[in-house]
Amino acid sequence: MSFNPANKIQDLQYFGEFGGVNPSISDSSTYTFLSAKTMFDTFEGNAEGCYLYSRHSSPSNLYLGQALASMEDTEAATVTASGMGAITPVLMQLCDSGEHIVSSRTIYGGTYAFLKNFAPRLGISTSFVDITALDKVVDAITEKTKILYCESVSNPLLEVADIRALSNIAKKYNLQLVVDNTFSPLSISPKKLGADIVIHSLTKFINGSSDTVGGVVCATQEFIDQLRNVNDGAAMLLGSTMDSLRSASVLKNLRTLHIRMQQHSKNALFLAQKFEALGLKTVYPGLKSHPSHELFNTMMNEEYGFGGMLTIDVGSIDKANALMELMQERNLGYLAVSLGFYKTLFSAPGTSTSSEIPEDEQKEMGLSDGLIRFSIGLDADIERTFKMMKQCMIDLDILEQTMV
Ligand SMILES: *Cc1c(COP(=O)(O)O)cnc(C)c1O
Repeated sequence: MSFNPANKIQDLQYFGEFGGVNPSISDSSTYTFLSAKTMFDTFEGNAEGCYLYSRHSSPSNLYLGQALASMEDTEAATVTASGMGAITPVLMQLCDSGEHIVSSRTIYGGTYAFLKNFAPRLGISTSFVDITALDKVVDAITEKTKILYCESVSNPLLEVADIRALSNIAKKYNLQLVVDNTFSPLSISPKKLGADIVIHSLTKFINGSSDTVGGVVCATQEFIDQLRNVNDGAAMLLGSTMDSLRSASVLKNLRTLHIRMQQHSKNALFLAQKFEALGLKTVYPGLKSHPSHELFNTMMNEEYGFGGMLTIDVGSIDKANALMELMQERNLGYLAVSLGFYKTLFSAPGTSTSSEIPEDEQKEMGLSDGLIRFSIGLDADIERTFKMMKQCMIDLDILEQTMV
């Protein structure tokens, strides 16, 4: 695939109002108008280039949105105060009461909780399916279905969605294919593969410094305008607006995303291969043993690799907790949720990020007790990291037990 999303970010040109190499930050919630007529037109959505009020849009948010739209090759984008602040308005904008969503069952815990516990209050129901079983996806579609929802690489099990095939299904049944691409920025370009709407939590790899939450919706200009509509736009009315100071700082971090993703991917591939060779049950899309390794290969923008996320299964929650505590003690990373930081982060999804999912459902989807999710950091010397992690496993008798 010749599309290179990092080039699209780099090729944008911004100048600050005094010729600064970064655009000036629009530190205002409201904007003056030279004429009352223009204010009216702006309310009606007819005054291009005019700003009204920063919950609707602001220059800083538009700059960041433009860069992310370029990255995902969509016409437009709108940035939000968090990833959930991007996901929930999209779902509410597309679905009325009485309508239905078909969603992957392995998704971010917050998204799962929204669909399962909150959306029914609005009369919106969801069928959760194994997204890798396309026949099950089709079987779940009803006359009321409006959305097909998935993550390109799923949290936390790292299942890979066949976006091309799902897009064909979505087109056939007249659904919107909404893809959360948080785990695989740059590596996978869902719009290129047929997704209608691409969402990211900017909190993770894209911002990359674990200092803020943020989100984005990348879509057609028409849909972004609908989300921001002053009369019935979910982003506008639910109010999950990003602050201008923050969007300026996320934009600056976005510029090193390609270098960071290459390093995250390189380090994660190295560790995944080594862990697997030790006999640990390892899941990483870059491993040949991953059920969707070939599929990932056919979808990816090669230079960015298979991403920074991997999981291992050490057999029990007690072992998992002991290993994570020891790795933190030896400064190999932090026992923390989230991802995309320069340090490695690890957590046991069953008791943390996916704890919204009931235990029996966790079992059914293969979310086992001893699972540890790693977001591999930018370590300069990953061989040293591996040796030290292996030593932790030896000290805790983990290797003998899981060796096959
Ligand atoms: C973190 C995350 C979200 C939610 O994003 P927030 O910024 O925490 O609101 C959504 N989807 C995925 C895949 C995530 O990892």
